[in-house]
Amino acid sequence: MKAAVLNSIPGHLEIEEVEIGSPGPREVLISTKAAGLCHSDLHFMEGKYPHPCPAVLGHESAGVVEAVGSMVQYVQPGDHVITCLSAFCGHCSQCTDGHLSLCENKGTELVRGKDEAPRLSRSGEPVNQFLHLSSFAEQMLIHEQALVKIDKDMPLDKAALIGCGVTTGLGAVFRTAQVSPGQTTAIIGCGGIGLSAVQGARIAGANKVIAIDMVESKLELAQAMGATHVINASETDAVEAVKELTGGGVHHSFEAVGAKTTAEQAFQMLRNGGQATVIGMIPVGTTVELHGVELLYEKKLTGSNMGSNQFRTDMPRFIDMYMSGRLKLDEMVSKTIALEDINEGFEDMKSGNVARSVIAF
Ligand SMILES: [Zn+2]
Ligand SMILES: [Zn+2]
Repeated sequence: MKAAVLNSIPGHLEIEEVEIGSPGPREVLISTKAAGLCHSDLHFMEGKYPHPCPAVLGHESAGVVEAVGSMVQYVQPGDHVITCLSAFCGHCSQCTDGHLSLCENKGTELVRGKDEAPRLSRSGEPVNQFLHLSSFAEQMLIHEQALVKIDKDMPLDKAALIGCGVTTGLGAVFRTAQVSPGQTTAIIGCGGIGLSAVQGARIAGANKVIAIDMVESKLELAQAMGATHVINASETDAVEAVKELTGGGVHHSFEAVGAKTTAEQAFQMLRNGGQATVIGMIPVGTTVELHGVELLYEKKLTGSNMGSNQFRTDMPRFIDMYMSGRLKLDEMVSKTIALEDINEGFEDMKSGNVARSVIAF
């Protein structure tokens, strides 16, 4: 099959022939139909996060089941699925406590062992699978607990977005922060994840949904997604502007950039008792600083991993929200591209002008 391979870090992706195995007892072979380009892929390509090479990147996808292993009962060939990097074992203490996205056995039970044939290979040499998925490829071979079965009426290119960005953004609002109706919110960064958080805040019934970015076109998109106010941080001090709009600070802020400054701003724009939720991937080795005295006012800073999801519950709900018109996904796809155009897709992302590029297979 054709796949986009990362051979060195930092580096570009190269379209190559990669061999894919056949399903083990609990594995599923999927024909990839759509894969979104997520900022996290770029973080790994740029070396802000470590990963062994060669690797097939991609982790936001939807497709159709081609074949299943001998023990798989949940899906069968022909089923439509969304993949999720939050593969869960179902029996560790995090899973049984309801925190599936924090599963402790991700790296052991849900991948193939060292003495087993690799899922992906090239001329007999193993190719690393990325985040249990490797979606930038014509096919995926994944653990059955890294996917959710979905309704066949759902368009697969929109479904793919739910595989990472949408679930991360909505989940941060619904599950991590648990925003209540009437509360005030601010979202820093209006890429795919930030726009999903904006939509989450609207759907949760927040009274103020303040979107912050430095690109005017993204702020316009945020308004279309439900932002009640926008702040262009290239012109204004975002913290001061949020405090002014809310009479002292927000109940909930969300950081969807992944940087020290914006994480600190998210904390600084809180009202007393407020909570800042950092969704973005802050580069390894970066520290975030805050004034200790602020803790006296019960302000909280927390992280959110993939929207604290329970994806087999959450993703079908998000599809219903899309089908009923409350969740906007069509507007989030700014470009549909071919696998061969993947590097240009990432260049577009770096320029900051697109919300989401999606590869159609
Ligand atoms: Zn992602
Ligand atoms: Zn687990």
